[in-house]
Amino acid sequence: MDIVAELGRGLGELANRALDLALPATCAGCGVEGAALCPDCRPALDARLDQPPGTILGLPGDVPEPLAQVEWCSSFGGVTRRALHRLKYAGDRRLAEPLGEAVGRRWARASAGGDLLVPVPASPDRVRDRGYDQAELIARAAGRVCGLPAAPLLERTRRTTAQFDLDRQARAGNVAGAFRMRGDGDDEPGTRRLAGTWIVLVDDVLTTGSTLAECARVLLDHGALAVSAVAVARER
Ligand SMILES: [Zn+2]
Repeated sequence: MDIVAELGRGLGELANRALDLALPATCAGCGVEGAALCPDCRPALDARLDQPPGTILGLPGDVPEPLAQVEWCSSFGGVTRRALHRLKYAGDRRLAEPLGEAVGRRWARASAGGDLLVPVPASPDRVRDRGYDQAELIARAAGRVCGLPAAPLLERTRRTTAQFDLDRQARAGNVAGAFRMRGDGDDEPGTRRLAGTWIVLVDDVLTTGSTLAECARVLLDHGALAVSAVAVARER
């Protein structure tokens, strides 16, 4: 990967270490001191690890078009919910490591492969507030486990309302046209930068899949061969 990405990763690890010194870690799942997520709570992230691939329990219809496959690690509750909440809203980036590792394990177990992990980008003002994009950190940790490179290829074009505030139909409209490829303006019209590439989108929480579907459309427009997705949790 490029030097900027490597540097970013190095700085992320430094920030983690600084945080370790500043705040002794307590487990996001049970509150015990010692680690951001203790060994007793970690297995909760892998609740679906042994389930057969392709079981889209409760998603209406099938996998949302145009996605090839959608996977997730556990339901959005208990330890998983508390860990995601602390990563997203309490600024504790250490949680990205165990959450991302669970994503990597589930993808390694449930999928037929893929070429590149691409995080679903958070909105720029959220990233500014937090100092990091949680899906990007999750994707990088996942990639180290399942052996795929991770690259933040997408960006948001505008603010969207939080999906959990909307019903199904409004969710699809809310995200329509909300994503584009980074650096799109530099390309000749019709450039198919992703030709032949199988992309795996990485997100934190899967709801209706409309955000993933919208991201998939952008990637397919740029020549991706197929787009699958894997999330930490699925909201029921
Ligand atoms: Zn715990």
